[in-house]
Amino acid sequence: QAKIMGRNRYHFFDADLDEQVRTHHNRRTEVRAALRAGELRLFYQPKLNMRRGRIIGMEALLRWEHPQRGIVAPMEFLPIVEHSDVIIDIGEWVLREALRQLQQWRHADPDWVISVNIAARHFQRADFVERITAILSEFPDVPPHMLELEILESSALSDINHVRTIMQDCQALGIGFALDDFGTGYSSMSYLKRLPADVLKIDQSFVRNMLEDRDDLHLVSAVIGLAKSFGRAVIAEGVETVEHGAMLMRLGCDLVQGYGIARPMPADEVLDWVAAFEHRAPLWQAAAQLAP
Ligand code: C2E
Ligand code: MG
Ligand code: MG
Ligand code: MG
Repeated sequence: QAKIMGRNRYHFFDADLDEQVRTHHNRRTEVRAALRAGELRLFYQPKLNMRRGRIIGMEALLRWEHPQRGIVAPMEFLPIVEHSDVIIDIGEWVLREALRQLQQWRHADPDWVISVNIAARHFQRADFVERITAILSEFPDVPPHMLELEILESSALSDINHVRTIMQDCQALGIGFALDDFGTGYSSMSYLKRLPADVLKIDQSFVRNMLEDRDDLHLVSAVIGLAKSFGRAVIAEGVETVEHGAMLMRLGCDLVQGYGIARPMPADEVLDWVAAFEHRAPLWQAAAQLAP
């Protein structure tokens, strides 16, 4: 009797695990199907140079326009595929879509830089540089310096020599590199010295709370100082108010991105938004000038 109970119980857990594996498999298949069905979209969030009062570029942010569920955020579906090659297919789609968009926008402002987020598994592939070279060659009108890749600070730490080589090879092509969510990855200064990233992107969690939380303020200030002393650019994300902007300016960071400037928007709204922002830009410049 006990044995049967035991087997039953075992069988119960087994079925449960089986169900979990199946669900995961189904969800991954669903994401792959979404890519094939053309349900993925890129939204764009502007980046602002406060001192100049000018938009300097956009970050491309992935969305899934689900026929039933509506717009789905990337953190709800990218983690499902980040350990499979689906993340690479998606990443290459994102690169092509961003470059295609950039081709349309380059007459609006040839100085814009479009940032694309790249998953660790994707950019650590042996053929990453060859593949990106091939993708760029499909868009002969877009100079590579208009493209910037954002990789997570945390994912750059796993194999620093490999990451360094990929960065250097991409930079030789003209592509820029930013370390995203900087401050959350525990990288030491010696790592930063060996990683030729062009930009440090201060994580939004620190920026958002820096006006209330002194530790966060010190962290933001330290990252800005670190960027300056290593000769890298620095941008703050999660800038929700002009007060955040004024503080960042005071700490020496001119470049900002966040809901206070704009939320991510569909591509077809971008040019109108930029034109309308000209009226709001002086507000950000004034705030910036208030900073000593
Ligand atoms: P991230 O690259 O750090 O992007 C910033 C995220 O913060 C975006 O969320 C953006 O909408 C949000 N955000 C921007 N400003 C503010 C603000 O002022 N306040 C608040 N509360 N949030 C703000 P989103 O679009 O949901 O993207 C989340 C993450 O998903 C991204 O973080 C990035 O790591 C990843 N991701 C997005 N698109 C892609 C993609 O095409 N490929 C890959 N591999 N990852 C992507
Ligand atoms: Mg990013
Ligand atoms: Mg980030
Ligand atoms: Mg993030």
